[in-house]
Amino acid sequence: MKFGTKALHAGIEPDPSTGAIMTPIFQTSTYVQEGPGIHKGYEYARTKNPTRTVLENNIAALENAKFGRCFASGMSATETVIKTLLPGHEVICTGDLYGGSFRLFTKVFEQFGIKFTFVNMKDPKNVEDAITDKTKLLWVETPTNPMMSIIDIEAISKIGNKHGAKVAVDNTFASPYLQNPLDLGADIVMHSVTKYIAGHSDVIMGFLGTNDPKVDEQFGFIQKSSGAIPGPQDCFLVLRGIKTLHLRMQRHCENGKIVANYLKKHPNVDKVFWPGFEDHPNHDIAKKQMRGFGGMISFIQKEDTIEKANETLRKFKLFSLAESLGGVESLVGHPATMTHASIPKEQRIQRGLTDSLIRLSVGIEDIDDLIADLEQAIK
Ligand code: PLP
Repeated sequence: MKFGTKALHAGIEPDPSTGAIMTPIFQTSTYVQEGPGIHKGYEYARTKNPTRTVLENNIAALENAKFGRCFASGMSATETVIKTLLPGHEVICTGDLYGGSFRLFTKVFEQFGIKFTFVNMKDPKNVEDAITDKTKLLWVETPTNPMMSIIDIEAISKIGNKHGAKVAVDNTFASPYLQNPLDLGADIVMHSVTKYIAGHSDVIMGFLGTNDPKVDEQFGFIQKSSGAIPGPQDCFLVLRGIKTLHLRMQRHCENGKIVANYLKKHPNVDKVFWPGFEDHPNHDIAKKQMRGFGGMISFIQKEDTIEKANETLRKFKLFSLAESLGGVESLVGHPATMTHASIPKEQRIQRGLTDSLIRLSVGIEDIDDLIADLEQAIK
């Protein structure tokens, strides 16, 4: 099955009891058993819920993963991966990554004796140099949030394999429509489902996929033990959202390309970060591992001050000033004060994330209206 067909059909059957074509919302906390231990595969809804099972199988199919699990948020999915580690273990992470992941790693898990090292993964050699015999996990984010750097998943996976470290990829920015990390050798794919997969800015959810039954078993054990699960209504909404994932992504990519090129030519704009540009430092790797370049774009204006960024941000009318990304509607964000405020300023600046950097999540509106809004905001 090809992607668009999988989005609509993989793991989804009409409800056997009624024929309902849409997966029902099984709003139940428990399931009646015929006798002690005699049940239909469902005992208690923290462990399993039929609406969730359908969604987990559906996203797993989109990621070409044998196993998939959904969580209450992207962060609880990430947390589940880290909870498979032990004190003394080390993790090497993409230097320029989502601020919430940075906060979880450094403020929550470091106090349990897990060490996180942040390296510039654009050159895989830096990963090889940082690996020790305690390194158990390589945490990759690509494209990165918000600098749109591209990390070579295949190269990093080879390094992980060689040194016995699992490789996990946060695939949120690409979505499974544009990139499938497991096919490139990664062990784990993670998503903030909240973003492109759900696609309508109405749900918070996370996903983990893997082909390794042992890893999935660990995830399942943590999922039921910690209980960070999504509710069935949210699973239903995401199942509905996925039915148009391929169509939405096509439009995000089309609009993203036009907006990126518009910004690049604009006299008031200094730098534009988008992996589709031929002069993007890792464009060749983006071309190799992605099927399109998406609708996430960051830029810095010539007047590189926080005051100028604030002035511009306030002028947007169609792009809404809000955290998050990947919804059908266009959003504009200011990473330094919003999504990446938890990263110390010196570290942010070192990664190129200046105070004036603006991030766009280009939606699926009519492109002429988006360009008109940009025009009046940055003139
Ligand atoms: N990973 C990336 C790349 C993100 O952008 C986000 C949220 O912005 C997350 C993870 C966290 O996901 P959630 O907000 O669903 O917990």
